[in-house]
Amino acid sequence: MRLRSTSDKNNIATLKEAVLKGLADDGGLFVPLKIPKIKSNFIKNIHKYSFQRIAFEIAKTLLEKNIPENALKKIVNESINFDAPLIKLDKNIYTLELFHGPTLAFKDFGARFMSKLMTYFIKTSKQKLLILAATSGDTGSAVGNGFLNIKNTKVILLYPSGKVSKIQEQQLTTMNKNITALEINGTFDDCQRLVKEAFMNKEIKEKFAKNKILLSSANSINIARLIPQTFYYFYAYAQYLKLCKTHDTKLVFSVPSGNFGNLTAGLIAKKMGLPVKKFVASTNANDIFPKYLSNGKFNPKPSKKTISNAMDVGNPSNFARIQALYKNDIKKIREAIWSQSFSDQKTKKAIQEIYKNYNYIADPHGAVAYLGLKEYFKKHQGKNDIGIFLETAHPAKFLDIVEPILKKKIKIPPALLKCLKKKKTSIKLSKNFVDLKNALLQSFPTTP
Ligand SMILES: *Cc1c(COP(=O)(O)O)cnc(C)c1O
Repeated sequence: MRLRSTSDKNNIATLKEAVLKGLADDGGLFVPLKIPKIKSNFIKNIHKYSFQRIAFEIAKTLLEKNIPENALKKIVNESINFDAPLIKLDKNIYTLELFHGPTLAFKDFGARFMSKLMTYFIKTSKQKLLILAATSGDTGSAVGNGFLNIKNTKVILLYPSGKVSKIQEQQLTTMNKNITALEINGTFDDCQRLVKEAFMNKEIKEKFAKNKILLSSANSINIARLIPQTFYYFYAYAQYLKLCKTHDTKLVFSVPSGNFGNLTAGLIAKKMGLPVKKFVASTNANDIFPKYLSNGKFNPKPSKKTISNAMDVGNPSNFARIQALYKNDIKKIREAIWSQSFSDQKTKKAIQEIYKNYNYIADPHGAVAYLGLKEYFKKHQGKNDIGIFLETAHPAKFLDIVEPILKKKIKIPPALLKCLKKKKTSIKLSKNFVDLKNALLQSFPTTP
């Protein structure tokens, strides 16, 4: 697998470079130079394989010969060690539950795979690793968890003060050990900007280079986060085939989108040969992408606060990748993706509707995806279309939102209960870059 920067197609990197850097030096994002096809025989027989077997096959195909097979198998098996069941709700409507990992959100997939891959790459070079990540809620705990207790590794998480749920905050601020949570007096976009500034900062770069500290990112800008997210699109198809025994279907995936990493992974899966008719990019009031598809103009805006807060993104970072995958051709992007935005009020109604009709409790993000799927089907459903909306978080992570909507107590999984009892430890910081810079420069002991 070789990659290039979205800002400069002559800026080429190996997988190792791309994974360890996160962001390209020119500020662009890494995209694969070419996307290999999965063997058609494998797709035909995919329902016969386990999730881990599918994940390994996809990883092997994508990564080509970057990592010896045995090492890759170990990375896959250690990171993809929980299920992603496909649940049937209605004749043509399914949900893919992506919240069975340790922090109960789909970001566990990306974070766990990335941490294992990074650890593999730095093992030989005796470097220290400092991971810097902005989080709108779920990224932070997933990334922290992925790197928890790994030697010579520190993780610094930035989250917007007062803008994540209580449970998310507990998850972020109770890992401790090699994980530090910085509570930023600003928005998620401020956190993302601070991270970007840190990567561009010369003083940090030079000092860290001298001290063999590798600064890397763990946001969905890191290509290592996207790779494992392609696995479950294939696995969803495998489960569908097993249930329905027909290859004669057209898949429609509705993806609740913020930074569009999850959706971009789906696009890569499609390019590898997964039979997808359409992706629905479902967003909350942060409607930059649906606006772009309708009028051709990409206009980033400050993010708006909603009840699906992990999608409160005003400048989706993977937009550049989507453009690169389709050579900036909006016609092709429109062929692949349909998009719509939904208000909080509609989302609340959807949570009620899903519960009433299917006795299923959706979290606010999954509910937005459900709305997108329904709306797409209302307008464009074909005879053999099968809709799958992605459930990206366990509803218990959003108790304060879901319980009053359903007027019902939600059962909290044991791992979450334990975390809620722990004491919060965070460091409050302004949104001025100089404060973050000082915190970073003190993270590991350094010589000048
Ligand atoms: C991060 C997140 C999303 C958005 O995913 P992107 O890849 O950023 O589009 C959706 N739902 C949940 C629960 C999330 O944590």
